[in-house]
Amino acid sequence: MTIADYSSQAVICRALTNAFPEDPIIGEEDAAELQQAENREFLEKIVAELHSAGISETTPENACHWIDQGGAKEYSHRFWTLDPIDGTKGFLRKEQYAVSLSLIVDGKIVVGVLGCPNLPFPTDESIKGTLYYAVAGEGAFAIALDREQAAIPIHVTKTSDFSQSRFCESVESGHSSHSHSQQIANKLGIEKEPRRLDSQAKYAVVAQGEADIYMRLPTRVGYREKIWDHAAGVLVVEEAGGKVTDIHGKPLEFNQGYELINNQGVIVTNGPLHPPLIGILDELAINQ
Ligand code: AMP
Ligand code: MG
Repeated sequence: MTIADYSSQAVICRALTNAFPEDPIIGEEDAAELQQAENREFLEKIVAELHSAGISETTPENACHWIDQGGAKEYSHRFWTLDPIDGTKGFLRKEQYAVSLSLIVDGKIVVGVLGCPNLPFPTDESIKGTLYYAVAGEGAFAIALDREQAAIPIHVTKTSDFSQSRFCESVESGHSSHSHSQQIANKLGIEKEPRRLDSQAKYAVVAQGEADIYMRLPTRVGYREKIWDHAAGVLVVEEAGGKVTDIHGKPLEFNQGYELINNQGVIVTNGPLHPPLIGILDELAINQ
């Protein structure tokens, strides 16, 4: 974990709790380790970071308190889920990462926000850093992170031809099986090289039509996807016209606590490519 993971969670949980004091937050981090004496120096760096973000009342104690406001684990009828830095490995490589936040009401994702500081703006490569957001039923939008500019609606592609399609997947083969995705690509006649990138930036890339598919294929039996790794991205893609299920074609269930316990892997497409892709997954019996 980095200073950024904790600082991001502290800033966002503080703001959310101020605005919505009753709402639980299921966040990725907690402050248990930070409170150990040997981590004091690290904690002081987080405090300094929050000071430089303008939160002058920060002390080690309230930094830990804000982080732990993201410590809910159980499902409730209305809650937020937060990944303060999704794709920490990408963040460390100075590649893709995302700050991911969503609001879930009665098991349905109603708001999804993905901050992607290293993803170029869809219509202007020279703008580095894009925020994606979606409200259920109202579409998906991109807005430049570093300037005042109107948001633009984003849309998935319409292709139904695998030979014209591109898929994206995790950089880390430990998070998604590259060998299985290659096998599937061969079977479906996907010719383009996969785009590999960290974090939920993959959902954004599909939502804005730069890839047609995102495959997240299980690497080991028993791993369950975490809700904060998906919720915001799922709504952004669905509102951009795409489709998201697990590898069996089942909808992801965000009413089970912090893990998608009834789902295996994740498949994201532009819609038309979804049924044939799920069909191939079934045929190849890719389930671990
Ligand atoms: P990505 O950047 O897409 O590779 O995904 C990063 C996320 O993968 C992290 O936030 C972890 O929660 C998650 N993760 C860790 N281990 C696994 C695993 N074995 N399978 C799938 N996801 C994992
Ligand atoms: Mg994550």
